[in-house]
Amino acid sequence: MSNIVVFVEQEGGNLRQASLEALGAAHQAGATAVAVLCGDGAQAAAAKLTAQGVSAAICLDGPGTHSPDALSKALADIVQAQSASGFLAPATSRGRDLAPRVAAHLDCVLFSDVTGFAANGGGFEVTRPWLAGKAIATLTTSGAVLCATTRLNTFPIAGGGAAPTVTSQTLNDAGKARVTGVEAKGQAKLDVTEAPVVVSGGRGLKEPEGFQIIEDLAAAFGDAAVGASRAVVDLGWRPHSEQVGQTGKTVAPKLYIAVGISGAIQHLAGMRTSGTIVAINKDPEAPIFKVADYGIVGDAFEIVPALTAEIKAIKAKH
Ligand SMILES: Cc1cc2nc3c(=O)[nH]c(=O)nc-3n(C[C@H](O)[C@H](O)[C@H](O)COP(=O)(O)OP(=O)(O)OC[C@H]3O[C@@H](n4cnc5c(N)ncnc54)[C@H](O)[C@@H]3O)c2cc1C
Repeated sequence: MSNIVVFVEQEGGNLRQASLEALGAAHQAGATAVAVLCGDGAQAAAAKLTAQGVSAAICLDGPGTHSPDALSKALADIVQAQSASGFLAPATSRGRDLAPRVAAHLDCVLFSDVTGFAANGGGFEVTRPWLAGKAIATLTTSGAVLCATTRLNTFPIAGGGAAPTVTSQTLNDAGKARVTGVEAKGQAKLDVTEAPVVVSGGRGLKEPEGFQIIEDLAAAFGDAAVGASRAVVDLGWRPHSEQVGQTGKTVAPKLYIAVGISGAIQHLAGMRTSGTIVAINKDPEAPIFKVADYGIVGDAFEIVPALTAEIKAIKAKH
Protein backbone atom coordinates (compact mmCIF):
# COMPACT_ATOMS: atom_id res chain seq x y z
CA MET A 1 0.00 0.00 0.00
CA SER A 2 1.35 3.46 -0.90
CA ASN A 3 1.89 6.30 1.56
CA ILE A 4 0.32 9.75 1.20
CA VAL A 5 1.54 12.64 3.36
CA VAL A 6 -1.39 14.76 4.59
CA PHE A 7 -1.02 18.21 6.14
CA VAL A 8 -3.37 18.11 9.14
CA GLU A 9 -4.49 21.42 10.61
CA GLN A 10 -5.25 21.72 14.27
CA GLU A 11 -6.07 24.50 16.68
CA GLY A 12 -5.40 24.18 20.39
CA GLY A 13 -5.12 20.40 20.08
CA ASN A 14 -8.38 20.07 18.14
CA LEU A 15 -8.28 18.55 14.66
CA ARG A 16 -10.01 20.54 11.91
CA GLN A 17 -12.85 18.75 10.15
CA ALA A 18 -11.35 19.70 6.75
CA SER A 19 -8.15 17.84 7.64
CA LEU A 20 -10.03 14.73 8.72
CA GLU A 21 -11.68 14.83 5.30
CA ALA A 22 -8.24 15.09 3.60
CA LEU A 23 -7.25 11.95 5.53
CA GLY A 24 -10.47 10.37 4.21
CA ALA A 25 -9.36 11.33 0.68
CA ALA A 26 -6.04 9.49 1.18
CA HIS A 27 -8.05 6.48 2.33
CA GLN A 28 -10.28 6.76 -0.78
CA ALA A 29 -7.11 6.71 -2.93
CA GLY A 30 -6.24 3.36 -1.32
CA ALA A 31 -3.23 4.78 0.55
CA THR A 32 -1.99 4.87 4.13
CA ALA A 33 -1.79 8.41 5.50
CA VAL A 34 1.22 9.97 7.19
CA ALA A 35 -0.13 13.02 9.06
CA VAL A 36 1.99 16.13 9.54
CA LEU A 37 0.85 18.59 12.21
CA CYS A 38 2.43 21.76 13.52
CA GLY A 39 2.10 24.47 16.12
CA ASP A 40 1.04 24.51 19.77
CA GLY A 41 -1.24 21.57 20.46
CA ALA A 42 0.16 19.40 17.65
CA GLN A 43 1.04 16.55 20.03
CA ALA A 44 -2.41 16.62 21.66
CA ALA A 45 -4.09 16.67 18.24
CA ALA A 46 -1.90 13.78 16.99
CA ALA A 47 -3.03 11.73 19.99
CA LYS A 48 -6.61 12.09 18.70
CA LEU A 49 -5.78 10.46 15.37
CA THR A 50 -6.79 7.02 16.57
CA ALA A 51 -9.22 5.82 13.93
CA GLN A 52 -8.47 7.71 10.73
CA GLY A 53 -6.26 5.16 8.98
CA VAL A 54 -3.10 7.12 9.89
CA SER A 55 0.08 5.03 10.18
CA ALA A 56 2.39 7.78 11.47
CA ALA A 57 2.08 11.33 12.71
CA ILE A 58 4.94 13.83 12.55
CA CYS A 59 4.68 16.89 14.81
CA LEU A 60 6.68 19.91 13.70
CA ASP A 61 7.74 22.71 16.02
CA GLY A 62 10.22 25.56 15.93
CA PRO A 63 10.26 28.96 14.18
CA GLY A 64 9.87 27.46 10.68
CA THR A 65 6.29 26.38 11.42
CA HIS A 66 5.27 30.07 11.25
CA SER A 67 6.64 30.46 7.73
CA PRO A 68 4.87 29.09 4.63
CA ASP A 69 8.15 28.83 2.71
CA ALA A 70 10.06 27.00 5.48
CA LEU A 71 7.08 24.77 6.27
CA SER A 72 6.43 23.85 2.63
CA LYS A 73 10.12 22.90 2.19
CA ALA A 74 9.88 20.70 5.29
CA LEU A 75 6.69 19.06 3.97
CA ALA A 76 8.35 18.34 0.61
CA ASP A 77 11.34 16.83 2.45
CA ILE A 78 8.98 14.60 4.44
CA VAL A 79 7.25 13.43 1.24
CA GLN A 80 10.65 12.42 -0.14
CA ALA A 81 11.90 10.87 3.11
CA GLN A 82 8.71 8.78 3.32
CA SER A 83 8.97 7.81 -0.39
CA ALA A 84 5.33 8.93 -0.45
CA SER A 85 3.25 8.76 -3.61
CA GLY A 86 1.29 11.87 -2.73
CA PHE A 87 0.83 15.05 -0.71
CA LEU A 88 -2.63 16.30 0.27
CA ALA A 89 -3.80 19.40 2.09
CA PRO A 90 -7.39 20.54 2.63
CA ALA A 91 -8.42 23.48 0.41
CA THR A 92 -8.47 25.86 3.39
CA SER A 93 -6.64 29.20 3.25
CA ARG A 94 -3.58 27.59 4.79
CA GLY A 95 -3.73 24.47 2.61
CA ARG A 96 -4.06 26.61 -0.52
CA ASP A 97 -1.04 28.62 0.57
CA LEU A 98 1.15 25.57 1.27
CA ALA A 99 0.20 23.06 -1.43
CA PRO A 100 1.49 24.98 -4.51
CA ARG A 101 4.78 25.62 -2.70
CA VAL A 102 5.12 21.90 -1.86
CA ALA A 103 4.31 21.02 -5.50
CA ALA A 104 7.01 23.45 -6.69
CA HIS A 105 9.60 21.87 -4.35
CA LEU A 106 8.66 18.42 -5.64
CA ASP A 107 8.51 19.64 -9.25
CA CYS A 108 5.05 18.16 -9.75
CA VAL A 109 1.63 19.35 -10.95
CA LEU A 110 -0.87 20.59 -8.34
CA PHE A 111 -4.48 19.40 -8.63
CA SER A 112 -6.57 21.91 -6.73
CA ASP A 113 -10.00 21.48 -5.14
CA VAL A 114 -10.18 17.77 -5.92
CA THR A 115 -13.49 16.00 -5.26
CA GLY A 116 -12.54 12.35 -5.93
CA PHE A 117 -9.53 10.01 -5.98
CA ALA A 118 -8.91 6.48 -7.19
CA ALA A 119 -5.75 4.42 -7.56
CA ASN A 120 -4.90 4.02 -11.26
CA GLY A 121 -2.07 1.59 -12.03
CA GLY A 122 1.00 3.10 -10.38
CA GLY A 123 -0.58 6.56 -10.20
CA PHE A 124 -3.96 8.13 -9.39
CA GLU A 125 -7.12 9.28 -11.14
CA VAL A 126 -8.60 12.48 -9.73
CA THR A 127 -11.84 14.35 -10.37
CA ARG A 128 -12.34 18.07 -9.92
CA PRO A 129 -14.91 20.67 -11.01
CA TRP A 130 -14.09 22.72 -14.11
CA LEU A 131 -15.56 25.79 -15.80
CA ALA A 132 -17.02 27.20 -12.59
CA GLY A 133 -18.45 23.79 -11.70
CA LYS A 134 -20.28 23.30 -15.03
CA ALA A 135 -18.19 20.22 -15.84
CA ILE A 136 -16.37 17.60 -13.82
CA ALA A 137 -12.94 16.71 -15.18
CA THR A 138 -11.34 13.31 -14.68
CA LEU A 139 -7.56 13.55 -14.79
CA THR A 140 -4.78 11.02 -14.42
CA THR A 141 -1.47 11.81 -12.79
CA SER A 142 1.71 11.13 -14.68
CA GLY A 143 4.33 12.51 -12.25
CA ALA A 144 5.93 10.45 -9.50
CA VAL A 145 4.00 12.27 -6.76
CA LEU A 146 0.34 13.32 -6.59
CA CYS A 147 0.01 16.80 -5.08
CA ALA A 148 -3.52 18.06 -4.40
CA THR A 149 -5.85 20.10 -2.26
CA THR A 150 -9.16 18.49 -1.28
CA ARG A 151 -12.50 20.31 -1.56
CA LEU A 152 -14.11 20.85 1.84
CA ASN A 153 -17.22 18.92 2.89
CA THR A 154 -16.67 16.40 0.10
CA PHE A 155 -14.77 13.39 1.45
CA PRO A 156 -16.11 11.10 4.16
CA ILE A 157 -13.98 10.85 7.27
CA ALA A 158 -12.04 7.56 7.22
CA GLY A 159 -12.54 5.02 9.96
CA GLY A 160 -10.38 2.21 11.20
CA GLY A 161 -6.73 1.63 12.00
CA ALA A 162 -4.83 1.93 15.23
CA ALA A 163 -3.21 4.95 16.87
CA PRO A 164 -0.26 6.22 14.79
CA THR A 165 3.36 6.32 15.88
CA VAL A 166 4.05 9.94 16.80
CA THR A 167 7.46 11.55 16.20
CA SER A 168 8.69 15.16 16.41
CA GLN A 169 10.90 17.38 14.28
CA THR A 170 12.11 20.93 14.89
CA LEU A 171 12.22 23.43 12.03
CA ASN A 172 15.05 25.78 12.90
CA ASP A 173 15.05 27.56 9.54
CA ALA A 174 12.75 30.52 10.23
CA GLY A 175 12.02 31.05 6.53
CA LYS A 176 11.71 34.32 4.59
CA ALA A 177 7.99 35.06 5.08
CA ARG A 178 6.76 34.78 8.63
CA VAL A 179 3.33 34.87 10.24
CA THR A 180 3.87 37.12 13.26
CA GLY A 181 0.40 36.95 14.81
CA VAL A 182 -2.95 35.25 14.46
CA GLU A 183 -6.13 36.92 15.67
CA ALA A 184 -9.14 34.89 16.69
CA LYS A 185 -12.44 35.79 15.04
CA GLY A 186 -14.61 38.07 17.16
CA GLN A 187 -17.53 35.69 17.46
CA ALA A 188 -17.42 31.93 17.56
CA LYS A 189 -19.38 31.72 14.29
CA LEU A 190 -19.23 28.66 12.07
CA ASP A 191 -17.17 29.20 8.94
CA VAL A 192 -19.22 29.08 5.76
CA THR A 193 -16.75 26.59 4.21
CA GLU A 194 -17.02 24.10 7.06
CA ALA A 195 -20.65 24.22 8.19
CA PRO A 196 -22.84 21.26 7.14
CA VAL A 197 -25.70 23.68 6.46
CA VAL A 198 -25.36 27.10 4.80
CA VAL A 199 -28.24 29.58 4.62
CA SER A 200 -27.34 32.32 2.14
CA GLY A 201 -29.10 35.57 1.38
CA GLY A 202 -29.02 37.95 -1.56
CA ARG A 203 -30.36 41.30 -2.73
CA GLY A 204 -33.90 39.93 -2.50
CA LEU A 205 -33.67 40.59 1.25
CA LYS A 206 -34.05 44.31 0.42
CA GLU A 207 -31.88 45.77 3.22
CA PRO A 208 -29.26 44.68 5.79
CA GLU A 209 -31.99 44.14 8.40
CA GLY A 210 -33.61 41.65 6.03
CA PHE A 211 -30.84 39.22 6.97
CA GLN A 212 -32.46 38.74 10.38
CA ILE A 213 -34.67 36.02 8.85
CA ILE A 214 -31.52 34.31 7.48
CA GLU A 215 -29.80 34.52 10.90
CA ASP A 216 -32.91 33.09 12.56
CA LEU A 217 -33.14 30.15 10.14
CA ALA A 218 -29.42 29.40 10.57
CA ALA A 219 -29.81 29.55 14.36
CA ALA A 220 -32.79 27.15 14.21
CA PHE A 221 -30.60 24.55 12.46
CA GLY A 222 -27.91 25.04 15.12
CA ASP A 223 -25.06 23.89 12.90
CA ALA A 224 -25.58 26.35 10.05
CA ALA A 225 -23.48 29.26 8.78
CA VAL A 226 -24.78 32.39 7.08
CA GLY A 227 -23.63 33.00 3.49
CA ALA A 228 -24.17 35.89 1.11
CA SER A 229 -24.10 36.84 -2.56
CA ARG A 230 -21.53 39.32 -3.79
CA ALA A 231 -24.21 41.90 -4.45
CA VAL A 232 -24.96 42.25 -0.74
CA VAL A 233 -21.27 42.11 0.23
CA ASP A 234 -20.53 44.92 -2.24
CA LEU A 235 -23.41 46.89 -0.73
CA GLY A 236 -21.75 46.49 2.69
CA TRP A 237 -24.68 44.53 4.13
CA ARG A 238 -22.55 41.47 4.95
CA PRO A 239 -18.80 40.81 5.50
CA HIS A 240 -16.70 39.41 2.66
CA SER A 241 -15.95 36.31 4.79
CA GLU A 242 -19.54 35.22 4.08
CA GLN A 243 -19.42 35.69 0.29
CA VAL A 244 -20.04 32.53 -1.70
CA GLY A 245 -18.93 32.32 -5.32
CA GLN A 246 -16.17 32.81 -7.83
CA THR A 247 -14.60 35.74 -5.99
CA GLY A 248 -15.73 34.51 -2.57
CA LYS A 249 -15.63 31.09 -0.94
CA THR A 250 -16.37 27.70 -2.43
CA VAL A 251 -18.74 25.74 -0.25
CA ALA A 252 -20.13 22.23 -0.49
CA PRO A 253 -22.37 21.75 2.56
CA LYS A 254 -24.86 18.92 2.90
CA LEU A 255 -27.64 21.51 2.60
CA TYR A 256 -27.45 24.92 0.87
CA ILE A 257 -30.43 27.25 1.11
CA ALA A 258 -30.34 30.25 -1.27
CA VAL A 259 -32.79 32.99 -0.32
CA GLY A 260 -33.44 35.95 -2.64
CA ILE A 261 -30.41 35.03 -4.75
CA SER A 262 -30.86 35.08 -8.53
CA GLY A 263 -28.24 32.38 -9.25
CA ALA A 264 -25.70 34.22 -11.41
CA ILE A 265 -23.00 31.95 -12.83
CA GLN A 266 -20.41 33.50 -10.48
CA HIS A 267 -22.53 32.57 -7.45
CA LEU A 268 -23.20 29.05 -8.74
CA ALA A 269 -19.42 28.54 -9.13
CA GLY A 270 -19.12 28.58 -5.34
CA MET A 271 -22.02 26.34 -4.32
CA ARG A 272 -23.26 24.08 -7.12
CA THR A 273 -21.52 20.97 -5.73
CA SER A 274 -23.51 21.23 -2.46
CA GLY A 275 -25.38 18.07 -1.43
CA THR A 276 -28.96 19.36 -1.54
CA ILE A 277 -29.79 22.83 -2.84
CA VAL A 278 -32.99 24.65 -1.84
CA ALA A 279 -33.89 27.93 -3.55
CA ILE A 280 -36.43 30.45 -2.33
CA ASN A 281 -37.15 33.19 -4.85
CA LYS A 282 -40.22 35.11 -5.94
CA ASP A 283 -39.23 34.90 -9.63
CA PRO A 284 -40.04 31.44 -11.07
CA GLU A 285 -37.58 32.15 -13.93
CA ALA A 286 -34.61 32.80 -11.60
CA PRO A 287 -31.57 30.76 -12.78
CA ILE A 288 -31.00 29.44 -9.24
CA PHE A 289 -33.94 27.05 -9.81
CA LYS A 290 -31.94 25.29 -12.58
CA VAL A 291 -29.45 23.94 -10.01
CA ALA A 292 -31.91 23.58 -7.10
CA ASP A 293 -33.12 20.18 -5.89
CA TYR A 294 -36.10 21.90 -4.23
CA GLY A 295 -37.50 25.27 -5.21
CA ILE A 296 -40.04 27.46 -3.44
CA VAL A 297 -41.50 30.30 -5.50
CA GLY A 298 -42.67 33.08 -3.22
CA ASP A 299 -41.80 35.93 -0.89
CA ALA A 300 -38.81 35.14 1.34
CA PHE A 301 -40.34 37.21 4.17
CA GLU A 302 -43.31 34.82 4.32
CA ILE A 303 -41.56 31.54 3.56
CA VAL A 304 -38.38 31.78 5.65
CA PRO A 305 -40.07 32.55 9.03
CA ALA A 306 -42.51 29.66 8.40
CA LEU A 307 -39.56 27.35 7.62
CA THR A 308 -37.74 28.52 10.77
CA ALA A 309 -40.83 27.80 12.91
CA GLU A 310 -41.10 24.32 11.35
CA ILE A 311 -37.40 23.52 11.93
CA LYS A 312 -37.72 24.67 15.56
CA ALA A 313 -40.81 22.49 16.05
CA ILE A 314 -39.02 19.43 14.58
CA LYS A 315 -35.92 20.07 16.74
CA ALA A 316 -38.11 20.42 19.84
CA LYS A 317 -39.57 16.94 19.24
CA HIS A 318 -36.12 15.27 19.07
C1 LIG B 1 -15.98 38.92 -12.05
C2 LIG B 1 -17.22 38.74 -11.23
C3 LIG B 1 -17.15 37.98 -10.08
C4 LIG B 1 -18.30 37.78 -9.32
N1 LIG B 1 -18.22 37.00 -8.17
C5 LIG B 1 -19.34 36.74 -7.49
C6 LIG B 1 -19.31 35.88 -6.34
O1 LIG B 1 -18.25 35.40 -5.92
N2 LIG B 1 -20.48 35.62 -5.71
C7 LIG B 1 -21.68 36.16 -6.13
O2 LIG B 1 -22.70 35.88 -5.48
N3 LIG B 1 -21.72 36.98 -7.18
C8 LIG B 1 -20.59 37.30 -7.85
N4 LIG B 1 -20.65 38.17 -8.90
C9 LIG B 1 -21.89 38.94 -9.10
C10 LIG B 1 -22.97 38.18 -9.83
O3 LIG B 1 -22.81 38.33 -11.24
C11 LIG B 1 -24.36 38.73 -9.44
O4 LIG B 1 -24.41 40.12 -9.73
C12 LIG B 1 -24.74 38.54 -7.98
O5 LIG B 1 -24.52 37.19 -7.61
C13 LIG B 1 -26.21 38.89 -7.78
O6 LIG B 1 -26.52 38.82 -6.42
P1 LIG B 1 -28.02 38.53 -5.95
O7 LIG B 1 -28.47 37.23 -6.54
O8 LIG B 1 -28.05 38.71 -4.49
O9 LIG B 1 -28.80 39.77 -6.55
P2 LIG B 1 -29.82 39.87 -7.77
O10 LIG B 1 -29.23 39.34 -9.02
O11 LIG B 1 -30.31 41.27 -7.77
O12 LIG B 1 -31.01 38.89 -7.38
C14 LIG B 1 -31.92 39.12 -6.35
C15 LIG B 1 -32.96 38.01 -6.41
O13 LIG B 1 -33.84 38.15 -5.33
C16 LIG B 1 -35.15 37.82 -5.79
N5 LIG B 1 -36.09 38.47 -4.87
C17 LIG B 1 -36.38 39.79 -4.78
N6 LIG B 1 -37.25 40.01 -3.77
C18 LIG B 1 -37.52 38.80 -3.22
C19 LIG B 1 -38.34 38.35 -2.15
N7 LIG B 1 -39.07 39.23 -1.41
N8 LIG B 1 -38.37 37.04 -1.88
C20 LIG B 1 -37.66 36.13 -2.60
N9 LIG B 1 -36.87 36.50 -3.62
C21 LIG B 1 -36.78 37.81 -3.92
C22 LIG B 1 -35.20 38.32 -7.21
O14 LIG B 1 -36.21 37.62 -7.94
C23 LIG B 1 -33.80 38.00 -7.69
O15 LIG B 1 -33.74 36.74 -8.32
C24 LIG B 1 -19.52 38.38 -9.69
C25 LIG B 1 -19.58 39.14 -10.87
C26 LIG B 1 -18.45 39.33 -11.62
C27 LIG B 1 -18.54 40.12 -12.88
